[in-house]
Amino acid sequence: MANILQPTEENLRELRKFLLFGGLVGVPTETVYGLAANAFDPEACAKIFEVKQRPANDPLICHVSGADALEDICHANPLALRLAKRFWPGPLTFVLPKKSKIPNIVTAGLDSVAVRCSAHPDFHRLVEQCDFPIAAPSANPFAYISPTTAQHVQAGLGSKITFILDGGSCSFGVESTILDLRDETNPRILRYGALPAEDIEVELGRSIEKPTFITADESVQHLAPGALPKHYSPRTPLELRGGISNAELASLKNDQAALLLARPEGSFPGNVHWLSENGKLSEIASNLYAKLREIDESGYATIFAEEAPELGLGLAINDRLRRASFR
Ligand code: AMP
Ligand code: MG
Repeated sequence: MANILQPTEENLRELRKFLLFGGLVGVPTETVYGLAANAFDPEACAKIFEVKQRPANDPLICHVSGADALEDICHANPLALRLAKRFWPGPLTFVLPKKSKIPNIVTAGLDSVAVRCSAHPDFHRLVEQCDFPIAAPSANPFAYISPTTAQHVQAGLGSKITFILDGGSCSFGVESTILDLRDETNPRILRYGALPAEDIEVELGRSIEKPTFITADESVQHLAPGALPKHYSPRTPLELRGGISNAELASLKNDQAALLLARPEGSFPGNVHWLSENGKLSEIASNLYAKLREIDESGYATIFAEEAPELGLGLAINDRLRRASFR
């Protein structure tokens, strides 16, 4: 089992050294927990793929300490600098042309790199202390539900890593929004995430290209490698529903679970679960993965999950639920 460390100054210094010399560390971010390695160290990054059982064609996101550090790893353009100043630190990842010092294994051979700056105070302090960027995909076995607590990381990868930095529960609970900025005149969202697309559109004063739900279409896969149709998945089959009525809840069988967006009125048996008290999207997102794990561990035959509205964070929530339901 891994050692779960508290974010003291001494522990952060130790973790920096451990990363510098090629170790892997489970780290908190404001979105989900990450599995971190020194992004300049190809052998350390190879261990990320091995530990997660992640396919080599699925590139890693690199973390830097701020807009000033963007140029360390990629060729930034004025739009990237402007959006970094507006939204960083925060759950927004840019895809930009990579510099050669980023090893090819990090970007799965692509000539672009994904870069972000986390707002999690403890992880941000660690990144600031490191004089190298940190590659960190989610700290879960490939395609399983992403971790939002140190205990989730322990449960999934604890036997394969030495340290997990405990930064509490992740505040957003879904992955970062990924924005392709390689062509400044045509910014486009590759993955819906914790920063609503509308916020970026308001900042830019124009609408931007959005992803459609990715099927097995290889031309799309090429643009957003790793955005596989089946992902974030519980082992229990999950069916997505536009809505779930009280009559349907009342007729659920014992081995069926319902996952609602908000607490239903009235009283229902223990197989009726909900993601928020009153439907607030930020609360739904932050509880989503922990609740899916809890239900997945309860031995149900099927989960019926209710779709979120198609706006704001609802787009990221539905994207995850669709992939979770993909068989
Ligand atoms: P995660 O596993 O949540 O860290 O997500 C990493 C995802 O970021 C990958 O699966 C890709 O979809 C995306 N990504 C990373 N690097 C690139 C890149 N250079 N170009 C396009 N997408 C990327
Ligand atoms: Mg992931």
